[in-house]
Amino acid sequence: MLIKRLVVGELATNCYLLGCEGTGKAAIVDPGADGRTILEELALGGWQLDKIILTHGHYDHFGAASVILAQRRVPVAIGKLDAAALHDPNFNLAGLLGEAPGKVEAELLLEEGDSVEVGNLQFQVLHTPGHTPGGICLQGEGVLLTGDTLFRGSIGRTDFPGGSPSQINQSLERFRTLPGELQVLPGHGPTSTIAGELLDNPFLG
Ligand SMILES: [Zn+2]
Repeated sequence: MLIKRLVVGELATNCYLLGCEGTGKAAIVDPGADGRTILEELALGGWQLDKIILTHGHYDHFGAASVILAQRRVPVAIGKLDAAALHDPNFNLAGLLGEAPGKVEAELLLEEGDSVEVGNLQFQVLHTPGHTPGGICLQGEGVLLTGDTLFRGSIGRTDFPGGSPSQINQSLERFRTLPGELQVLPGHGPTSTIAGELLDNPFLG
């Protein structure tokens, strides 16, 4: 699997390009901003975009989806309970960020236990509410995409609409049983591993 991290937008969101080298298909995870740069990255690698995956329904994670969708007709996947947030500027924080409400429609509504395929790559969906009600993590191919649930040394905020400290604590509990060598690809900041987080993330201590 090819993994390319692009840091996009004012909030320095991590947008990931996940590419299946066997088939040439790729997914974009969390195209928060800088749609042109993301499209250029796809073109540079000759990737065939298969889908857009959103870890949750905050604008800084899907703000450039409409730009990409205007060029490539692909389905958008999001946790079922965050789908409505795409149209609600209070919930998706577009209002707070001073942005126009998004016009993104999600066709693939993901739930716990679902799997998402990108060419020959396969990822399992973990429903991890707390930062948002429908936040998801994706586990597969040796990585865990954690969105704004888990960062290196920290966790996502729970004081936005729909956030819940008790829910994020339950979600974090799930990480304790995952393989330590799993590479953590968070929605903001540097990458990590599960073992590293269990060692020095105060929220997992
Ligand atoms: Zn967020």
